[in-house]
Amino acid sequence: MKQAILNGPLDMSIKEQPIPRLKPGDCLLRVESALVCGTDVRIFEGKKKKNVTYPTVMGHEFSGTIVECNGPLAPGLTVDDLVAVYPIVPCGRCTACIRGRSNICRNRQAFGYQIPGGFAEYVHVPAAAARAGNLVKVNGVHPTSASIIEPLACAYNGLKLIDAPAAHSLLVVGCGPLGLMHIRLASTLGVERIVAVDPSPQRLAVAAKSGAQCTLAPGDTAAREILEFTRGDGVEAMVVAVGRADAFEPYLDALSPGAKVNLFAGFPTGEDVLAVPANEVHYNEYSIVGSSSCHLSDFEFVASLVTDGVLQVEDLITTIMAIDETEAAIEAAKAGHDLRVGITARS
Ligand SMILES: [Zn+2]
Ligand SMILES: [Zn+2]
Repeated sequence: MKQAILNGPLDMSIKEQPIPRLKPGDCLLRVESALVCGTDVRIFEGKKKKNVTYPTVMGHEFSGTIVECNGPLAPGLTVDDLVAVYPIVPCGRCTACIRGRSNICRNRQAFGYQIPGGFAEYVHVPAAAARAGNLVKVNGVHPTSASIIEPLACAYNGLKLIDAPAAHSLLVVGCGPLGLMHIRLASTLGVERIVAVDPSPQRLAVAAKSGAQCTLAPGDTAAREILEFTRGDGVEAMVVAVGRADAFEPYLDALSPGAKVNLFAGFPTGEDVLAVPANEVHYNEYSIVGSSSCHLSDFEFVASLVTDGVLQVEDLITTIMAIDETEAAIEAAKAGHDLRVGITARS
C-alpha cells in the first residue's frame, strides 16, 4: 500500500509499504478520503512539534471502509461499512480524562500523529481505537463529506465552550475553512445573528451563504459596525478562527457584557502573545477560553447532522488530489485558495 511518510520537516516520500498485520481486535480501513488540515501544513513545515515524532503519517481528518478485522468489531459495525474516524485515543486515567476532558488528555495517542493517519491507502486501526468507538458509521454519506466531520466536530466543541449554541449572536473572525464551518454550524444550530470578518470578499461571500447576515472586512470601523448590527448589544460569543493573536483586541468594543471568546485557531510560535486590557476583562466578566480537538460525543453529534443531511458540507472541499501528490496538496492547502483540499488513493 502507498503511504505518504513525513521523514522530517519538508521531507516527504510516498512509499510502498506492507499492509499491516492485524492483532486480535485490530481492523483495517481502506481510506476513501482524507483532508489536509492547517495543522498538517504546520507539521509538514516543522512549525508544529507538539505530539509529532518522525517519521510520521499525517491525516487526522479521514473516512474509510472497513475491509478486514481480526475478531469482532464494535457493536453496530460490520465489514464494508463506511466510517468517519474520530482521531483521538485518550488514556482514560489522567486528570483530564477523569474530568471528562479526554480530548485534551496529555497521554493521548491520535491518528495522524502517533498512530499512522489517513494520508495512505490503508489505515491500521489498533484494537484500543476500534473498541473505544473511534469508528463512526456514516453509510450513505459521500466519503469526502464524511472526512470533514472531524474539523466540524472541533468547531462544535469550540462553540459549546463559549455557549454559542444558546447565544443570540456570534462573531467569527477569520473565514478560512474552520471559520466557515463555525458559521455553518452556528446557523444550523439556530444562532440568530452571525457576523463574519475576513479580508477576502470571496470568503465573505461563502460566509454569507453559510449563514452570516453581516460580513465585514477587518478595519477600524468593524467593531462599530458590529455594534450597530446587534443594535448596540454587542455579540455574546466570539471565535478567533485565524492564527493571529492581534485578531481579538480590535473587537473588544463589539462584545456584550459577559461575552465568551474562544481562541480556536493555532497561533504561530513566537507570535502568540495576546494583548488584552485586563480591566476590560475584569469589569465586563469576559471569559476567554481555548479549544482543541473534540470529544467523541461531539464527533457523533456532527456525524448525525451530516448523515441526516441537516448540515451541507460538500462545497467546503474544493480540490481533491491523488495520494502521489500529497506534497502538492499540502502546498495547495497552504496557498489558501481552496477551502479544504482532499487527498485520495482511490481512482
Ligand atoms: Zn484538523
Ligand atoms: Zn488521559
